[in-house]
Parts: sequence; structure tokens; C-alpha cells
Amino acid sequence: MALIVHKYGGTSMGSTERIKNVAKRVAKWHDAGHQIVVVPSAMSGETNRLIGLAKEIMPQPDPRELDMLASTGEQVSVALLSMALQTIGKEAVSYAGWQVPIKTDSAYTKARIQSIDDVRVRKDLEAGKVVIITGFQGVDDRGNITTLGRGGSDTSAVAVAAALKAAECLIYTDVDGVYTTDPRVVSEARRLKTVTFEEMLELASLGSKVLQIRSVEFAGNYKVPTRVLSSLTDPLMSLEEEASSGTLISFEEDTHMEQAVISGIAFNRDEAKITVLGVPDKPGIAFQILGPIADANIEVDMIIQNQSVDGKTDFTFTVPRGEYVKAMDVLNKNVKEHIGAGSIIGDSKVSKVSVVGVGMRSHVGIASQMFRTLSEEGINIQMISTSEIKISVLIDEKYMELAVRALHKAFDLEKA
Ligand code: ADP
Ligand code: ASP
Ligand code: MG
Repeated sequence: MALIVHKYGGTSMGSTERIKNVAKRVAKWHDAGHQIVVVPSAMSGETNRLIGLAKEIMPQPDPRELDMLASTGEQVSVALLSMALQTIGKEAVSYAGWQVPIKTDSAYTKARIQSIDDVRVRKDLEAGKVVIITGFQGVDDRGNITTLGRGGSDTSAVAVAAALKAAECLIYTDVDGVYTTDPRVVSEARRLKTVTFEEMLELASLGSKVLQIRSVEFAGNYKVPTRVLSSLTDPLMSLEEEASSGTLISFEEDTHMEQAVISGIAFNRDEAKITVLGVPDKPGIAFQILGPIADANIEVDMIIQNQSVDGKTDFTFTVPRGEYVKAMDVLNKNVKEHIGAGSIIGDSKVSKVSVVGVGMRSHVGIASQMFRTLSEEGINIQMISTSEIKISVLIDEKYMELAVRALHKAFDLEKA
């Protein structure tokens, strides 16, 4: 008997029919003698619908109220799933984040989990109940409901698994594992049987939305065995077969044998690039430009400063597209005159494409192969950044899918 956490995403919870299937799957695991905690997302489209309603009333919704609203989607899911389980004879109980409680900081819309109380949950599990906990939400120390950022139910699930020292966290979704790239963009993408924790961390941080990055961080920090698998298979398929399906996130590098040097390609459509032209080339300038950006709570990603000519240089960086207008505003109001810069220009239609693989550590020439492939497609590279196991390029958004497909082919990632 083991304690296992199941997470079901929006598509998996998308209709009452699908919720009944989730209940059948959960019951199958419970019947096999396991203690099961389920962490579902809101029904597909629901979180978007709620945020849309808020924006009809207030274009920039108040973050506290937005969390109060957006968190309701998951409350619907847990109650429906509990009913579906009870209908098939399983004792089940649902909880909202604040009832557990899952404590977070107060950063509305992007709160971080600080602690999870396991007392209530353990009591229910010991009494033989299936426990269902809302994904995506928590409560701060003043009792306000918070949410964890889009895709945050993954993080709730892995954090709950870590708190309960679960034997495994199974992330059920609408694909049957982690692929070499998004299978919706490249139909030849191949499922990986294992992916190393480090690679998964890079893929998630570079835009593969199959797992929210913070869930991967939790998995790594607490060594939670985590597997991504399909919720759309027959819920009554054999438990043994299901338990070894999908993609396992591995913590050992030597399990990385099936893949070539590159394991996957990630992309992020929603980038924006900003260049401050004619900046005096002297100490403190990067701080004077990026300090106010950080103070405005805007995340900066890629950064380059060019060679200076006559004591002046250009400083370029990227921000999430949704923060572009705010970042330009901050620079024009607080920075430009202060540092004596020329002008500020930007492009909000750029995307980032990245190749990732731990094999890069022991192979040279990956960057040149990537750049050659892009040049053969006539794609201009605007910025480059690298780490030990990834190379990212910033390109015009209209070439993003072409770039992903060409690189997928060039690095032999296609189905055998
Ligand atoms: P859920 O609602 O279950 O959380 P998400 O939509 O958040 O599901 O994540 C699953 C989706 O992630 C897939 O449908 C797929 O389009 C996308 N995706 C992006 N990159 C990858 C990848 N490398 N492997 C698998 N899926 C990926
Ligand atoms: N329902 C939330 C969202 O749509 C959380 C999640 O699905 O993981 O972002
Ligand atoms: Mg998701």
C-alpha cells in the first residue's frame, strides 16, 4: 500500500462524463489498496472564463479579487469529483486550499506555497477516504485566498505529494507524457520515457507548459517521484500498465540513454524585446535600467549590452509580452532622461526557441548546428542565450513554428 497523489488537468476534468472517468480511475487505484489524494484543476476553459468576466468589469482587475474569483473554478471541480466518487461507492471528501490549509505568501496571482498542514488529510486517508484538494490555490497568513499562477495545479499536486511524503505524484493530462516538443506543433514529436529533472526544469522554464516550472522545482527539492501520463486512456486499463506509462522525471543522469544530445525543444511565443539606445557606457547603467523594471515586478529574461562606440552603447533585454507596455512606460518615465539615454525602441512580436539536453555537456557544435539550421531557413537570430544544457534564440514570432520544426528534424528528434 502506498500514498499516491493524482493530479488531473482542465481537459481531464472538462465535462461531467470526464469527471466520472476520473472517479473510475481513482477508484481503481484505491481498490488496489493505495491511499489516494487527488488534486484537480478547474474544468477546461473555466479559469479563462472567470478572468474574462473580471476584465469586462475592470480592465486591470484588483489582484486580491481576481484570486477570489479565479479560485472558484477548482472548488467546483473538487466537489463534483467527490460526488462522482461517492456515486460509485467510494468515501470521498473535498477541501478548498484554505481548509487544509495550504499556506502561501500574499503575492496574489503568483503566490508561493510556504507550508501544507497534513493533519486533516492524514486523518481522512486513515479512515479510508479519498481526499480531494483544490489545485491552484492557497491562503495567506491573513486568511486571503491566493492563486499560484496559471498552470498552478501541477505545483499544488507536487507540493501536496512532498508534504505527505507520497510514494509518487502522477500528473494526468491530455497528452500521454512529455514529448520532444509540443506535439500540437510538431506532429512527429516523440514521447520520452524518462526526462532528467534538470532537463524538465529547463523545458518548463523555457515555455513547455506541460508542467508548471514551480512543480518541477518542488519535485527536485523534495525528490518527489513524478510521472506525466494520459487521463484520456481507458480508466479501467490495467494498473501495472498505467503505472509504467507516460514519462518519468528521473533524478539520475545515467537513465538518460534513449535520447540523443538534445532531448527537447521548448518555445515561448509571448516575449517582447526592448532596446535602450545610446546609453552612456559607465558603471551602474545596467542597474539604473533594470532596477526600476524589477521594482515594477517585471521579470527580465535575456539581456545583452553591445560594444560601446564613443562612450555610448545599446542595452537590450526581453520581458514577458504581457508586461511590455508597463516596461516601456517605466523606462520612458523613470529611466530615459535620468541616465541620458537616446531613445527606447521595442518589438512585442518576438518568440524564444530553445534546444535542451544534458548531453550538451559532453558534445560540442550544438550551437553551430542550431544556427546553421536557422540560417538555412532564412530565420534571423535577434538574441542568443546559453546555459550548460540549453541554447535559446530570440526570433520574429512569425517564424517560430518553422524554427521548431526545422530544429526538431535537424537534431533527429522525430519518431523512429
Ligand atoms: P493540463 O490542463 O492537464 O494541465 P496543459 O494544457 O497545462 O494540461 O499541458 C498539457 C499540454 O502541454 C499539451 O496538450 C501540449 O500541447 C503542451 N505541451 C507543450 N510542450 C509539451 C511537451 N514537450 N510535451 C508534451 N506536451 C507539451
Ligand atoms: N485552473 C488554473 C489555470 O487554468 C490552474 C491549472 O489548470 O493548473 O491556470
Ligand atoms: Mg497545466
